[in-house]
Amino acid sequence: MTRFIFITGGVVSSLGKGLASAVLGSLLQSRGYKVRLRKLDPYLNVDPGTMSPTQHGEVFVTDDGAETDLDLGHYERFTGVTTKKTDNVTTGRIYSDVLARERRGDYLGATIQVIPHVTDAIKEFVRNDITDEDFVLCEIGGTVGDIESLPFLEAIRQLRNDLGSNGSCIVHVTLLPFIHAAGELKTKPTQHSVKELQSVGLQPDILLCRTERPVPLDQKNKIGQFCNVAAADVIIAEDARSIYQVPLAYHSQGFDTQICRHFNLDEKKPVLKRWESIAYDFENPEGKITIAIVGKYTSLQDSYKSLGEAITHGGIANKLKVEVEWIDSEVFETENDDILSHYLSNISGVLVPGGFGKRGSEGKINAIRFARQRHIPFFGICFGMQMAVLESARALGNLPNANSSEFGSGGDLLVGLMTEWATGNSKEQRTDFDDLGGTMRLGAYECHITRESLAYQIYNTIEISERHRHRYEVNINFQKLLEDAGLFISGLSPDGRLPEIVERKDHPFFIAVQFHPELKSKPFQPHPLFTEFVSAAGKHSRLV
Ligand code: GLN
Repeated sequence: MTRFIFITGGVVSSLGKGLASAVLGSLLQSRGYKVRLRKLDPYLNVDPGTMSPTQHGEVFVTDDGAETDLDLGHYERFTGVTTKKTDNVTTGRIYSDVLARERRGDYLGATIQVIPHVTDAIKEFVRNDITDEDFVLCEIGGTVGDIESLPFLEAIRQLRNDLGSNGSCIVHVTLLPFIHAAGELKTKPTQHSVKELQSVGLQPDILLCRTERPVPLDQKNKIGQFCNVAAADVIIAEDARSIYQVPLAYHSQGFDTQICRHFNLDEKKPVLKRWESIAYDFENPEGKITIAIVGKYTSLQDSYKSLGEAITHGGIANKLKVEVEWIDSEVFETENDDILSHYLSNISGVLVPGGFGKRGSEGKINAIRFARQRHIPFFGICFGMQMAVLESARALGNLPNANSSEFGSGGDLLVGLMTEWATGNSKEQRTDFDDLGGTMRLGAYECHITRESLAYQIYNTIEISERHRHRYEVNINFQKLLEDAGLFISGLSPDGRLPEIVERKDHPFFIAVQFHPELKSKPFQPHPLFTEFVSAAGKHSRLV
């Protein structure tokens, strides 16, 4: 029997609801249960693919090619369960499906309404594509009280009836603010947000109260009394030293125990060893290095959420604390090497991540040149690989006008719009005029690695599968020119047409990949590219 846990948020956003959901999933797993996590987003975009990363944060891409909310990244990293297209939905997607059905005439002349048609579509999403999971955790984006989330809450209200009293649980995540002037923690906002939830017919079963301070027992009892839950179901979620402490902290407050009691489940003893060891390794590094991330969306670190996490995983694997210096690549749009030197001389490694558009691209190329010339470990991801190709071609390949068609049609187009590629046995086609949403090369694709290469040493296998999200590709016809410039293509798509990995042999560590390895890194399974990049950076830092 599959049980459903709905996670809602109250008081303010940014309470770590996504992380709390991922942590709960992981705690249930550690008791031997099979879990699945889903996110229901109330905004009107069909998916976050067209949203600015500095507004909405990173777009997390699944193996099956969906552009999803970054919380799915937390789910994968904490549970190891590979997320799918069927794990994220938005109001925009629900409405566009309902309207498509209406146009097809599927509703047989009925008047289409939020209740029941939209709420039915939401319920369908929640119950779709489930096999033998013990728990499906559904996080509702936004904050209770937002107009947009009402249909989702109504759908949950209906589902609670459909599923019966033992079939579901509502976890409401709230905030207990500390008022410094009064020296007191306040419970009122939590009471109000529970009232708000009750007004749409939902009574939370468990409250997860985020706080920066310990909460006295009498306060906990008071919250329970006012909010109509048992004191034991008021879980105090105090700020933790690191995200890796959170599973241990929430468990010690009884979070997973109360969930199991709610469902009348035998209390299996959770096995938390792997979190204990990750938390220990994270907090007890044997050295420290600094990596520069030269990107475009550096004003909001959530834009590179998985990247930051993957670097940390690489650090844990090497027993190193990795500090990240986020640098807006526009500061490097200069011929003056003193500026590059100022920012990069004491850095242990340079990473140029994914990105879109011309702005800042010359700065990235300059940073790559500097890392190449000064033998600083370099790792390029997606756009970072495209810029590394342009840099080698311009500086060493006698092609000063090497360019990408993403920036216009001038110059020698080493990076160009991909108009056709293979997905399994079928072909995907694109033109310049396609919609921007959902039309990139998306999701997992295979790549074949050459044996005599750094990539092979890192992966230790010749066949890999990695996730993609890009529109442009390095043109394989320039392979010879690039090799003469010292840049070798060490990974290719199985049909040999799409360069996937490039590297330099005249450098201690210079590798760039067309895919996004950060999306598959997990704390207990760090991605080898990040482990080796951090290791190379560690070696370099002993030299600088
Ligand atoms: N803008 C580039 C492209 O579309 C790279 C995308 C990325 O870095 N994710 O191909």
